[in-house]
Amino acid sequence: MKEFLQDKIFSIISEAADEQQQECYVIGGYVRDIFLKRPSKDIDVVIVGSGIELAKRVAAKLGKKASLSIFKNFGTAQVKLNDLEVEFVGARKESYLRDSRNPIVEDGTLEDDQNRRDFTINAMAICLNKDRFGELVDPFGGVEDLKNFVIRTPLNPDITFSDDPLRMMRGIRFSAQLGFFLESNTFDAIARNKERIEIITKERIADELNKIMMSRKPSVGFILLEKTGLLELIFPEVLALKGAETKDGVGHKDNFYHTLAVLDGLCEHTDNLWLRWAALLHDIGKPRTKRFDSRLGWTFHNHNFVGEKMIPDIFRKMKLPTNEKMKYVQKMVTLHMRPIVLTEDEVTDSAIRRLLFDAGDDIDDLMMLCEADITSKNQEKVKRYKSNFLLVRQKLKEIEEKDKVRNFQPPISGQEIMETFNLPACATVGDIKMRIKDAILDGIIPNEYAAAQAYMVQVAKELGVAND
Ligand code: ATP
Repeated sequence: MKEFLQDKIFSIISEAADEQQQECYVIGGYVRDIFLKRPSKDIDVVIVGSGIELAKRVAAKLGKKASLSIFKNFGTAQVKLNDLEVEFVGARKESYLRDSRNPIVEDGTLEDDQNRRDFTINAMAICLNKDRFGELVDPFGGVEDLKNFVIRTPLNPDITFSDDPLRMMRGIRFSAQLGFFLESNTFDAIARNKERIEIITKERIADELNKIMMSRKPSVGFILLEKTGLLELIFPEVLALKGAETKDGVGHKDNFYHTLAVLDGLCEHTDNLWLRWAALLHDIGKPRTKRFDSRLGWTFHNHNFVGEKMIPDIFRKMKLPTNEKMKYVQKMVTLHMRPIVLTEDEVTDSAIRRLLFDAGDDIDDLMMLCEADITSKNQEKVKRYKSNFLLVRQKLKEIEEKDKVRNFQPPISGQEIMETFNLPACATVGDIKMRIKDAILDGIIPNEYAAAQAYMVQVAKELGVAND
């Protein structure tokens, strides 16, 4: 494996480890990623001895170019060199208490250290000492599992997952990221140990969920979460989308699988994490709004608004950021049906202006989400919608060029209305302002100051707050 250790940093670490006369290896994700041909800048080095001492030696050899940080409490150290980050740690043996994922740690051998790793593909090590430089140590068949696209724990999976239940999320996340299978014993052990997830902090779970969301096909992760029973525990609102009922011979689509199809479809076009979250949550209000009407069949009235209102609770509970990112997700969920409705009716300029006004700069993201939302088994229907969608896009471009309402600010302020008509702050001021906005969006007057001012006077007269 020497050919993969060409970077000068490895020969320096090798020299330093030999001076310490201790075994030293590059281990874990970096080794896995060599086989996956995914170049990585994070290198984990384990030494059968003191990681801190080794890091100090390496930093001294590198001189000013490198920066050294020592984490005494953890017995680890980091050396940064340009864009490389190398973590140094002594080989360790771990034992766990029932109520914590933080182990009791003692010094150990390489074998002990490999035993505590989560998956076979993450447990491989390459020796850095001069006499064994480049030798692969793969006690659990990690290379074979990589070839077969398999995620498997090195030891008894029940113990591995019960010790540190975060590994269940990690396993599913790696399956999604790499497109690998969870080996059946590993899968079954997750299902058996799912309740142990309760000792994991919400932040850690959110971290893994975000990595699943950022994978090429997040449905792989969500289907595994659902099948192992973890989804019910960590995200019941998404699980509630699952299932399709039939009444009087009328069915509706399974909104869980529909949501995943929308999410996967969207992911082909964007890496925007929060737009991906909007796709996951776009129908989250459906289970709460589902009704059966003998005339209309299944309805989900206002599911977008109900969904929008559910989002703050979900984000708070899951320790996702409750800032402008959440507001953006809410906005996308509220508006997600607007462009598609336009494809059904005749597309009026006024409807387009209103959509531009409500979506503002997020209009392109909204269009992307809405287009991904067109999923149907009926290919004819999909084709028809998509071509109507093109028309809407075209029209959006035309109207925006003409009327510039994307980030529309009303040309007349409330203050000006109050001063002109000597009004106190009251509902009438709001009414006049709204009428001016509507007139512009409906194309009754152009988006210009003089026209808006004249219109203001006209409305004020109608409302009896201005004389002829
Ligand atoms: P990524 O960088 O995509 O998060 P990674 O596996 O490359 O994944 P880390 O999460 O930093 O990077 O983990 C580095 C290595 O540490 C892993 O490859 C694995 O060997 C080990 N490891 C990390 N977390 C755990 C865990 N919870 N249990 C056991 N081993 C772990």
